[in-house]
Amino acid sequence: MECQVIPGARIAEKFLEELTKQITEFDSQVKLVSFLANNDPSAEQYAEVTKKSCARSGIVFELRKIGREELEDAVIAANNDDTIHGILVYYPVFGGGHDQYIQNCVNPYKDVEGLCHLYRFNMYRNIRHIQGRRDLKSIIPCTPLAVIKVLEHCNVYDNDVPYGNQLRGKTITIINRSEVVGRPLAALLANDGAKVFSVDINDILLFYRGPDLELSKYKVQDTDKKLEDVLPISDIIITGVPSSNYRVPIDLLKDGVIAVNFACAKNFDDEIKTKASIFVPTIGKVTTTMLQRNLLRLYKYGTYGRYS
Ligand code: NAD
Repeated sequence: MECQVIPGARIAEKFLEELTKQITEFDSQVKLVSFLANNDPSAEQYAEVTKKSCARSGIVFELRKIGREELEDAVIAANNDDTIHGILVYYPVFGGGHDQYIQNCVNPYKDVEGLCHLYRFNMYRNIRHIQGRRDLKSIIPCTPLAVIKVLEHCNVYDNDVPYGNQLRGKTITIINRSEVVGRPLAALLANDGAKVFSVDINDILLFYRGPDLELSKYKVQDTDKKLEDVLPISDIIITGVPSSNYRVPIDLLKDGVIAVNFACAKNFDDEIKTKASIFVPTIGKVTTTMLQRNLLRLYKYGTYGRYS
């Protein structure tokens, strides 16, 4: 079987074209402000990449470097500034609970990362709209959303099945259970009907909506399974292990598997091309594009006078 290797950049392209077109139709500029309060060089690098991508689509991107004790007031000031449509903070800043407090200081209608309580609650509870408004879709965090868009591009979602159940019958393994990517992604895919094995360094959990998708949201079950039990039965493998030494054991994979890596490190050897039907080695460009997609959505919500 011929493996199709799809660069994330190619998937991002169609979204970028659409965003660029929409922005030319707006009557005012769209502005994203990001706060760097942790002196993290990789966050600064990420900001540079985001700036370039925003410039291409016509979004004004401004990086503000500040001390961490100024962050809370700066976020509140940005909430109250009508010329700013999206706010981004590079975490960790304080670590732990205080970072969560800052995440909740961002006005949900400017929260391009979908990190405030309202959006997390909606995501985990399988609530798809804001405050019951059918015209206001909830915001999904950028990297999990990017993986979903990658899977849509790979035609994994069955459009003949009602919205919300379109991953029915799919078994997915995610090797990463971080709170920023792996866990939300497992919840989102299970809420869409998949059976998801969520692997981390300690154990494997099953996220699913029951054998007949009878539950309204996913539940989590402990398992005593090992990687060698879940890989051979998975239609899709998604990896995010932040280690240059880690490799997925390719001999355990199903023929024709779809393999997606979101880690900065390479998690699959080139041999994956002998097993997979589709391989997406990186998704960073899709993530920065989803950030802009969230921003435009929030811009429209604001323009229509929907700030709470
Ligand atoms: P993290 O360190 O918070 O989480 C790593 C996860 O991998 C944990 O759940 C851990 O248990 C699991 N893990 C580590 N080693 C493992 C092993 N040997 N077997 C099974 N599970 C193992 O990291 P993170 O913030 O989730 O980021 C992960 C990677 O994704 C990093 O490389 C990061 O740079 C990248 N990332 C990419 C994007 C993007 O848009 N492409 C966005 C965010 C993060």
